[in-house]
Amino acid sequence: MAIQLNDPGLLKTQAYIDGNWTDGFEGKTFAVTNPANGEHLADVADLGAAETRQAIEAASRAMKEWRALSAASRSAVLEKWHALLLENQEDLAILMTAEQGKPMFESRGEVAYGASYLKWFAEEGKRVYGDIIPTPQTDRRGIAIKQPVGVVAAITPWNFPNAMITRKVAPALAVGCAIVLKPAAETPLSALALAELAERAGLPAGLFSVVTGSDAPAIGGEMTSNPTVKKVTFTGSTPVGKLLMRQCADTVKRTSMELGGNAPVIIFDDADLDQAVAGALVSKYRNSGQTCICANRLIVQEGIYDAFVEKLRAAVAEFSIGDGFAADTTHGPLITEKAVRDVHAKVSSAVEEGAKVVIGGEPQAGAGNFYQPTILTDVNPQMRVFREEIFGPVAPVFKFSTEEEAIAMANDTEFGLAAYFYTENMGRMWRVAEGVDYGMVGVNETAISSEVIPFGGVKESGQGREGSKYGLDDYLETKYICMGGLNR
Ligand code: ADP
Repeated sequence: MAIQLNDPGLLKTQAYIDGNWTDGFEGKTFAVTNPANGEHLADVADLGAAETRQAIEAASRAMKEWRALSAASRSAVLEKWHALLLENQEDLAILMTAEQGKPMFESRGEVAYGASYLKWFAEEGKRVYGDIIPTPQTDRRGIAIKQPVGVVAAITPWNFPNAMITRKVAPALAVGCAIVLKPAAETPLSALALAELAERAGLPAGLFSVVTGSDAPAIGGEMTSNPTVKKVTFTGSTPVGKLLMRQCADTVKRTSMELGGNAPVIIFDDADLDQAVAGALVSKYRNSGQTCICANRLIVQEGIYDAFVEKLRAAVAEFSIGDGFAADTTHGPLITEKAVRDVHAKVSSAVEEGAKVVIGGEPQAGAGNFYQPTILTDVNPQMRVFREEIFGPVAPVFKFSTEEEAIAMANDTEFGLAAYFYTENMGRMWRVAEGVDYGMVGVNETAISSEVIPFGGVKESGQGREGSKYGLDDYLETKYICMGGLNR
């Protein structure tokens, strides 16, 4: 086996349903490969609708006892699970770099980030308060209590194979729900290792099942049509999110959707240039441009434009792209060959329409799914690199003159996940922060995410919030109880 772990027990290739490791009813498998070199890593159990149904039924059974426990008892399991993630941080990072490609320092960081959601919701789950409502009648009182929404189904992407799972599973379990997960077929090993650690933490069978499979529509179809599932939570592309919302309509399921982004980074003439370059650089090229809050469009004021591009070019020229396991690698591969083709198609179409390549601009020759870190100038809002999520290491740098124009450019998209801007002007900070139509705004900062903040988008970037005290709401129903006859 190509992956060497300190604890080989964390390399699981069977699915995890109702507390059992299983090959599925048909015994089929699908291959997981290393995007840095195409190496075959594992054959993982390939499940479908029937096993998904089995996991949902188990979740429904398991939830009955789980929801009746005290929040403190549920919290204790999540705390243990959190500790086990940190104890096994290196192995989880190795699995992640092998199947996803990101450099080891990013993988270690993601494991800590993923673990932080377990800890946060272990704590926050104890704070599910209700209300007593004074009523118009003197003989009664209204009470609002919060209850778990029911069985949850989750579908997650490959770009954050750990944290996108824990930020859904942790709040669901903390409030008393059970959850069935379909991880991305590109990165099932990280998800299965999480399940193994959940089992070691003492999570009772059925509360967290992992249905691995290559037939996403079959698994997703069952999750969205099965009446036992009360809530579907999804992180992924906007088209798939819309499809799942449509499918959920028939049984009126609640949904949380964390979908695509098209993040602007606006840099005003009055910005601290070095700070802005550093922020844009990290935001654009983290995970080789494959995050939903990655800077997609750098929008730079004319007075500072040339200096910004030159500093950005000099910084990008220092990148070392390569295998995520190599100590000097700063940037890893894209997830698939198709991803490389898609990114290059966007760059090529921009170049055909007049864009200039400052650096990069081509797939990297040789093995692995690498794309050169790229900067484009002479770009305009009609180009695909302005309108579409790039999901690769390509920075188109647009020019603007006035604050009004910058806000209009930032908002000229159907997406609304994250926006960033750099300025030293206090009035402008408020005007722009309030003027951009985004769920999250970074002012003089692009590293905005953590477990304590409400992560989520507006417009076609989705609905619902993950993390923070608001993240519990997505897994709770409000029930109104009328206590009457109080004057008798
Ligand atoms: P990406 O382009 O990042 O892979 P996707 O939206 O295609 O984004 O994938 C995110 C997750 O959605 C993955 O787990 C994938 O398997 C799943 N998925 C893709 N298509 C469907 C579908 N029709 N039904 C349910 N899940 C799907």
